[in-house]
Amino acid sequence: MIQERVLRTAIPGPRSRELAARRAAAVGRGVASQLPVYAERASGAVVRDVDGNQLIDLVSGIGVTTVGSAAPRVVAAIREQAETATHTCFMVAPYEPYIAVCERLNALTPGEHEKATVLLNSGSEAVENVVKIARMATGTQAIAVLDNAYHSRTNLTLAMTARSAPFKQGFGPYAPEIYRVPASNPLRDGLSGEAAAARTVTAIEDFVGSTQLAAIVVEPIAGEGGFVVPAPGYLRALADHARDNGILLIADEVQSGIGRTGKWFAIEHEDVVPDMVVITKGVAGGMPLSAVTARRELMDAVGPGGLGGTYAGNPVACAAALAALETVEAEGLLDRATKIEAVVREILEPLVRGCDRVAEVRGRGAMIAVELVQPDGGHDRDLCSRVITRCHQSGVIVMAAGQRHNVVRLLPPLVISDGLLREGVGALVEAISAEAEV
Ligand code: PMP
Repeated sequence: MIQERVLRTAIPGPRSRELAARRAAAVGRGVASQLPVYAERASGAVVRDVDGNQLIDLVSGIGVTTVGSAAPRVVAAIREQAETATHTCFMVAPYEPYIAVCERLNALTPGEHEKATVLLNSGSEAVENVVKIARMATGTQAIAVLDNAYHSRTNLTLAMTARSAPFKQGFGPYAPEIYRVPASNPLRDGLSGEAAAARTVTAIEDFVGSTQLAAIVVEPIAGEGGFVVPAPGYLRALADHARDNGILLIADEVQSGIGRTGKWFAIEHEDVVPDMVVITKGVAGGMPLSAVTARRELMDAVGPGGLGGTYAGNPVACAAALAALETVEAEGLLDRATKIEAVVREILEPLVRGCDRVAEVRGRGAMIAVELVQPDGGHDRDLCSRVITRCHQSGVIVMAAGQRHNVVRLLPPLVISDGLLREGVGALVEAISAEAEV
């Protein structure tokens, strides 16, 4: 597929509108979609809809197709593995690709200590499992989570997720022993990393007690929470407190991992080694696969049969993961993520100086966002939604984030060309300028 933006019809076109009508009749309305168009093909950094429009993809299916859609190595590996064996179940007849993925993740995750990995299907399942392992390994139950956290939508992970509507409201009661504590949010709280960590620790002491705590779960960059990068030193100070008090530090790298921020894992920017890492999205080039990688002694606290799942570590997904990881290395995609940050900042940062509705451009690597505000600095959800709609209509895929939905996030595939990236981010600038009347 040629890597270019093509607009053949209005967005959405007639065939997408037909599918929207069929969808309304057949699909539960609880599943919402960002775009009004229906995808027919996707390749590299372009999504083609059913009317022949080609959209520039600055979201990668929420940070999944880091190596691009239908990446050649990934497609070849899927095809070969599908012809070899599609499923034998690792809990019935185990197989080599599962082991190979675990070996790779043990080597790639931060820290030189001995590690072990288990594979699962989704982010939610990996987060559920990391909590099981933490409780078994520490013999304590309480889990601390941050006030901008997103950890998914199953019952336990919803208890860990911060935002009420639309994720949580009406679905309770939620799993017990989850404690929410304040995160670092430099734009809003103005605190240094050390001061923000002291506030987090005070809340832990006030509401749980460090001795009761099994683990603190952090996103090194809050994903759904709005790409909030904690103040420098925040995670380091939290890690020190955890280490000194026998609390495990768990990094949820679901959105920020696998090269997205210019390092394999975003927590490496903070020079912190977590006890366990939650991995999915970019790891398997678009196939459903997730992982928990832990210090060996923590993982081994759980006896045989305590972890697993019918589809967990499916061989086709494992083959895709090995190919995706190879692609990140072979194509120098960590460096590419850093380069993408430079290009995006060059285009977006002038807006912060020139427009009082743009509060900040933030993030790392190819995980970058703009926060849109009202003239008085309040969160501007309505402006954000108008900007996003305008981008979609001009053939560029962007997405909202933030506790108050006022952040436009970009998670482009790392294989996007400079030309397409500039064109896509340029369309975002035009949309902001038009909607904010700069
Ligand atoms: N953790 C984080 C940090 C995420 O960003 C997400 C998904 N956006 C999840 C967990 C949940 O992953 P899944 O949707 O695969 O359950």
